[in-house]
Amino acid sequence: MKYDYLVVGSGLYGAVFAQQAKAAGKSVLVIDKRPNIAGNVYTERVEGINVHKYGAHIFHTNLKEVWDYVTKFAEFNRFTNSPVANFKGELYSLPFNMYTFNQMWGVVTPEEAMEKIEEQRSEIKGEPKNLEEQAISLVGRDIYEKLIKGYTEKQWGRDCSELPSFIIKRLPVRLTFDNNYFNALYQGIPVGGYTKMVENMLDGIEVRLNVDYLENKDDLDKLADKVLFTGAIDAYFGYKLGNLEYRSVRFENELLDKPNFQGNAAVNYTDRETPWTRIIEHKWFEFGKDENGNDLPKTVISREYSSEWKPGDEPYYPVNDEKNGKLYEKYRELAKNEKNVIFGGRLGEYKYYDMDAVIASALEMCKKEFE
Ligand code: UDP
Repeated sequence: MKYDYLVVGSGLYGAVFAQQAKAAGKSVLVIDKRPNIAGNVYTERVEGINVHKYGAHIFHTNLKEVWDYVTKFAEFNRFTNSPVANFKGELYSLPFNMYTFNQMWGVVTPEEAMEKIEEQRSEIKGEPKNLEEQAISLVGRDIYEKLIKGYTEKQWGRDCSELPSFIIKRLPVRLTFDNNYFNALYQGIPVGGYTKMVENMLDGIEVRLNVDYLENKDDLDKLADKVLFTGAIDAYFGYKLGNLEYRSVRFENELLDKPNFQGNAAVNYTDRETPWTRIIEHKWFEFGKDENGNDLPKTVISREYSSEWKPGDEPYYPVNDEKNGKLYEKYRELAKNEKNVIFGGRLGEYKYYDMDAVIASALEMCKKEFE
């Protein structure tokens, strides 16, 4: 049979697109080169714990349309992300807020904190030109040196003075005692894990796993009128204009025979010397309990290491600097000539999308495509 759509990649963009296509009465085939669905939001159960296999994913959004959409496929718990920063054994609250300022400078009131920040940010004159200047002008040099510089340079493998300032603007700065990492109206983790949520989205849709689209492109293209491609746009074109740069992440997972390793879902190691960027203790995304409310006796932790992407690695983060932006625009031009192919998602659009933004963008595309 010939399908209306072939969806390449069963991550969030692909799953939303497939779900909406089916709802619009289209026939859809979803393929994925991995042995599992759900792309990088994939979770796997270990000892009753939903392990975020491709890194911590905390759903948060201000978009009511997106929240209404995801809650059709999963119930969300009340998890609030409050990572702790560990700088050489000193612990600080994140994001930057009154607790952090108190721990850093001993200041007690918002006026005192503001005074400290004003004093330190005055070293930056004019518009911040890069992440380093942006960070110092937001929170001052002390916080930059202890909580931003080492972490960012490990995560991106680049000097803070060579990184775009928008990356750091993701982090809120608050003069209140509020450790909620995100400024989002809606936040939580899908009960039972992300894999189950994506399974629900793909309910009734044919999915073929372990199928590599780019290796079997000609045959697979014959199966459908149109293709949605959510892989890396440069890979689609055989890297013919050169590689876009990505950051990859590697995880060292450990199952520990104890109930509590670090007392929090995420601890960021913000010094330059510790080789990992953060340690995730997965059970705390669901309050250390199984689905019946029982305490889990063991724990799974993942040390996260960042590296420059090379062929064969999983691409995680597009490096949205000027050089890559220009190359992406060239690929984008090529993509426009692929009449029956839609490019979408973090890799298809080479964009540091959060989960909610991916879903919003997929829903938007579906409106154009199916209405
Ligand atoms: N960041 C930082 N220190 C931290 C956490 C984050 O300097 O302890 C900066 C860093 O530049 C990072 C950016 O904030 O690249 C975004 O971090 P986040 O953890 O939100 O990114 P994620 O990997 O979760 O998408």
